[in-house]
Amino acid sequence: MKTIASLNSVKSLENSALETPSSQPTYALISVHGDPTAEIGKEGAGGQNVYVRELGLALAKRGCQVDMFTRREHPNQQEIVELAPGCRTIRLTAGPAEFIPRNDLFEHLPEFVEAWLNFQQRTGRKYTLIHTNYWLSGWVGLELKSQLGLPQVHTYHSIGAVKYRNVENPPQVAAIRHCVEKAILEQADCVISTSPQEAEDLRQLISQYGRIKVIPCGINTEHFGSISKEVARQQLGITSDSQIILYVGRFDRRKGVETLVKACASLPSGFQLYLVGGSREGGADFQEQQRIQNLVKELGLEAVTNFTGRISQALLPAYYAAGDVCIVPSYYEPFGLVAIEAMAAKTPVIASDVGGLQHTVVHGETGLLVPPQDSNALKNAIGSLLENRILREKYGNAAQNWVQSRFSTQGVAAQVHELYQSLTVDTFVQEIIQTKNLTPELEKQIQNLLKSKALKSSEVKALEKLIDLFSNGILQWVTS
Ligand code: UDP
Repeated sequence: MKTIASLNSVKSLENSALETPSSQPTYALISVHGDPTAEIGKEGAGGQNVYVRELGLALAKRGCQVDMFTRREHPNQQEIVELAPGCRTIRLTAGPAEFIPRNDLFEHLPEFVEAWLNFQQRTGRKYTLIHTNYWLSGWVGLELKSQLGLPQVHTYHSIGAVKYRNVENPPQVAAIRHCVEKAILEQADCVISTSPQEAEDLRQLISQYGRIKVIPCGINTEHFGSISKEVARQQLGITSDSQIILYVGRFDRRKGVETLVKACASLPSGFQLYLVGGSREGGADFQEQQRIQNLVKELGLEAVTNFTGRISQALLPAYYAAGDVCIVPSYYEPFGLVAIEAMAAKTPVIASDVGGLQHTVVHGETGLLVPPQDSNALKNAIGSLLENRILREKYGNAAQNWVQSRFSTQGVAAQVHELYQSLTVDTFVQEIIQTKNLTPELEKQIQNLLKSKALKSSEVKALEKLIDLFSNGILQWVTS
């Protein structure tokens, strides 16, 4: 039975869709378990949420309409949140309105697809392309693609075959995940790999078929580089002569916090260890945090270790800037936003020599790479930077320049936008052709052009202008 509240919400959905009519392309970013407006830094909310939100905002700044679809996790959550003009989060109901660990979400995906189709029908919103994130959304995307024929772009964020490579008892869902990840690579119009390592893993472990384009993750470099070390330390009440070792991230075994704590236990005294990240009581991350707290106690590091809890994105730049070194000790890391956020704040990074970190941290220039799960190597690397302020500053300056030139949201969003345009240009030009009065000969020539060449966005604009000139009779097609 429909309640008044649910009828009202349908009305508000319709209104808000009517408020944003546009001739601009409309993109659907789908992130079933990663709400782009969630509190980041605890279970279920990490890099993927940030990636989707930053990409959505940056595309909207470029003049696109962006709807970011996610699953409702609480009955009181608003259905539609407008983050900026042209960029909205839309929460669909699929399964109970409560947090569900991602390994248990697969059974709710058909309901998510249905809710998405209902939303589209109800609001009359026409999407040009869908960009799915993580295998769960990828499955949703394949369904929508087969029903509506929409072009699909996919970002994996993590690959099951890599994540479970050395895991003795992978969860039951791992086998389904592998099949879905293979289908996505083979059937989506293009897969975005956030690092060359991920592209190689996809080819070797998932499938030889399918199109892959490497485009890294981007961050708001101005935001993370907005504060100096001195001001940050004043704000956080840290004295200027303290030695700060920083970790930022979720509590998850694969993040390797254990290796970091063990490394710190054999460092000379005089440092402070900041572990920044939250957890959800009763969740897997809560258990992991407790395990780390016990280890800290066991190794006699209680007095020098600060568990800050989750820190908002607004306050994080101060933590990054206050650190002397930021450690990313992951055992597996598809990309690792934390590394580039720290570098944007001029803080050198010591990271495990794995996954995307191999391509974001330049060994001996912006920080150091060490073998994963090797607390002794990590201890030596931390020690070498803590005792050398000049080297830290040199790495920190180089790190900031490196991140600004490679990983800014604007630069990355421009590459993603270009990819979307190349995949939708055909539909776009077909729509223009249909609305204009062109001679059959000219239309044939344009169709031939579309078949023979993948047009760039600047070429599409030029073509659109030409079509206008022809249809207004200002130019005429003459065959020789
Ligand atoms: N983060 C945060 N608050 C915290 C801890 C982490 O906002 O207390 C954010 C951090 O800034 C980063 C994200 O969580 O953007 C973690 O992304 P990353 O790619 O490093 O790891 P993931 O969580 O995706 O495994």
